[in-house]
Amino acid sequence: MAGSEAKKVLRKDGEHTVKVALSPTLTIGDGSFVVIAGPCALENTDQVEKASSAVKNAGAHVLRGGAFKPRTSPYSFQGLGEVGLKLLAEQGKKLRVPVISEVMEVNQLALMLDYVDVLQVGARNMHNFSLLREVAKAGRPVVLKRGFGATLEEWLLAAEYLLDGGTDQVILCERGIRSFDNTLRNTLDLAGMAWVKERSKLPVIVDPSHSTGVRSLVIPMALAAAAAGADGIMVEVHPTPDQALCDGPQALTPAMFEQLMQALPPLLSATGRSLAHHTLSAVSGGAR
Ligand code: PEP
Ligand code: MN
Repeated sequence: MAGSEAKKVLRKDGEHTVKVALSPTLTIGDGSFVVIAGPCALENTDQVEKASSAVKNAGAHVLRGGAFKPRTSPYSFQGLGEVGLKLLAEQGKKLRVPVISEVMEVNQLALMLDYVDVLQVGARNMHNFSLLREVAKAGRPVVLKRGFGATLEEWLLAAEYLLDGGTDQVILCERGIRSFDNTLRNTLDLAGMAWVKERSKLPVIVDPSHSTGVRSLVIPMALAAAAAGADGIMVEVHPTPDQALCDGPQALTPAMFEQLMQALPPLLSATGRSLAHHTLSAVSGGAR
């Protein structure tokens, strides 16, 4: 990449993609396709249980759910905090899948480490370099979302903070950017994802939920991401999207998520790939 300040995140000639351990039995970056799914926000016991069992039964590898929500309006639901993290961790243990949740602030980090296997840094915090420096020291894999106003170079340099801070267990997530066209919630930059995948040694995933904001577009864009070579996807699923406290219009129903999980294998196999699977060598699930 001519003129780039990025160093550690770039792929040297012939270098393989970094394998990131999401749990003792699940790896991303080995060519297989990882599906992270769950509700936007953790809302209550019933919702978390229903969403978790639906995505796990359909074949999701990692369970997601926000406990600290970076909402545009201070009057919108801000998340359940620790209560939500507890619910998420319980489901992760029960269903034997790793869990991911967003850390918004440095002072939430210690608490999060008690409950989550993977840390998420959200689009709004991609430029929060002091948070990145602390997250780098946490010893957990990190999903770093692209800021919606960030260039590809700025996204890579944000990841460089994590690598320079001492971890290479980093996954990049394209989640759509703001463009002149506001018809959809964001503009999914699939070509940018593929460009980053070529140049960076880090695994790259796509979030077809926030990048479209429209339920009917989530499955097509998830499949497009798989066809374009992404290492996985992160998808929002809600048992009753019409009642969701956050991002209902983009949430898949459990039936639609199942449909997506059925559609992925033939598409992946057309490019010589397959869905990831948890290896049986160890027992996983819940916070380590
Ligand atoms: C999310 O994944 O719940 C989220 C808030 O996403 P983003 O940071 O991409 O807006
Ligand atoms: Mn959301």
